[in-house]
Amino acid sequence: MTTPAYPNLTVYGALWCPDCRRSKQFLAEHRIPYHWIDIEQEPDAQETVRRLNDGRQIIPTIVFDDGGLVLAEPSNAELAARLGINPQASRTHYDLIIVGAGPAGLTAAIYAAREGIDTLVIERGGVGGQAGSTERIDNYPGFAQGIAGADLADRMREQAERFGVELLVAQTVASIATSLPEGNESGVRAVSHTVATESGQQYRAPALLLTPGTRYRRLNVPGEDDFIGAGVHFCATCDGPFYRDRDTLVVGGGNSGIEEGLFLTRFASHVTVLEVGDRLRASQVLQDKAAAHPQMDVRLNTTVREFRGNGKLESVLVEDLKTGHQEELHPAGVFVFIGLDPNTAFLSDVVQLDQRGFIVTGAGPNSSMMETSRHGIFAAGDARAGSTKQVASAVGEGAAALIGIRAHMEDEIRNRGYSGD
Ligand SMILES: Cc1cc2nc3c(=O)[nH]c(=O)nc-3n(C[C@H](O)[C@H](O)[C@H](O)COP(=O)(O)OP(=O)(O)OC[C@H]3O[C@@H](n4cnc5c(N)ncnc54)[C@H](O)[C@@H]3O)c2cc1C
Repeated sequence: MTTPAYPNLTVYGALWCPDCRRSKQFLAEHRIPYHWIDIEQEPDAQETVRRLNDGRQIIPTIVFDDGGLVLAEPSNAELAARLGINPQASRTHYDLIIVGAGPAGLTAAIYAAREGIDTLVIERGGVGGQAGSTERIDNYPGFAQGIAGADLADRMREQAERFGVELLVAQTVASIATSLPEGNESGVRAVSHTVATESGQQYRAPALLLTPGTRYRRLNVPGEDDFIGAGVHFCATCDGPFYRDRDTLVVGGGNSGIEEGLFLTRFASHVTVLEVGDRLRASQVLQDKAAAHPQMDVRLNTTVREFRGNGKLESVLVEDLKTGHQEELHPAGVFVFIGLDPNTAFLSDVVQLDQRGFIVTGAGPNSSMMETSRHGIFAAGDARAGSTKQVASAVGEGAAALIGIRAHMEDEIRNRGYSGD
């Protein structure tokens, strides 16, 4: 695969700014290099931003060196258009539309296109999902030495394109509507689903696969973004083995924090759990296990203020919220477990979600394990309720969903003679 030539970019922003993070993530997902200037750290940067924006202080402000174009707070679609990334799909009708180009979506797309199912994948960022922006994946079978997440994403993309999958990136799916066949008010059988993007494009297909994934909650403190994968982690199963015989810190005293902390004791010499409240929120059983474990201790009323280091995490500034006392700790690695949210806000009136917003499958009119409450709409990967939140399982779910989708398509053709829109 050839990498297109992009102009040199400078991104002016601040650590606390969510749109700056979104733009940086978008550029990283597309492997587009950029120069980052923190307006709170660099002298004169705020003045530069005001000058570039006619006196207004808007971040992110992105400057292109070829022609000096300035984009102030651009959406991903605007940024993509300026970078020459394809702005819309080639057609409006497909056999299958997949929302999300992470491992689950890409796997399903590979399976689908290989069987001749005409497939469009719509992705709001770049190809690869969370896996694509992971420093190193060490537990995905077939890569004995591990593989950089970006490499794995590029390989999956290349394979999908080889089979003719159409990938539409930098477009966010905003809504989904289903049109029912005439004379069928019960809504049991759907004929066509219309997927609308934030920028107003509409695409139709008789089957949809939802693979929008999740996002880990961040602490949003200085240094966190800089050391992800270089001392700051969000997955003990993935990265715990890197900390054999080292001291680690776990942030979060809920069920996942304690469970992952206990898991880390298999490798780490010691695990300290920081909990912001005055008691742990994990179940009593887990609390008892933590209390009895010789390699674990808990610090209550404690929060992280800053991650420090030079290219790699060197220390963590923590604060006792009762006394205000600040202290620098020197763990080898920090694991943040303060929650995980599915990217399903746009699905709340489309399919059944569980209390935490994960997509419920297996409860629809058909018995297909991966079908949602709406006929013809399937779900797979991390956003699916009960999923395992690993690359290998997302890949497996993508393949399983496609088998269900194929059966759905055969069923539709048998029952209503459907053969494309
Ligand atoms: C820091 C980190 C390290 C990890 N390390 C490992 C590891 O070492 N090993 C391992 O097995 N797992 C690891 N994981 C977990 C792994 O990355 C995920 O389990 C896997 O990526 C899930 O795949 P998915 O396809 O379900 O979702 P995702 O990878 O999350 O992909 C979902 C995609 O959908 C897109 N999307 C969401 N909403 C919309 C919308 N409305 N419109 C269009 N697109 C949308 C998102 O932008 C995203 O690209 C790690 C995760 C993180 C965050």
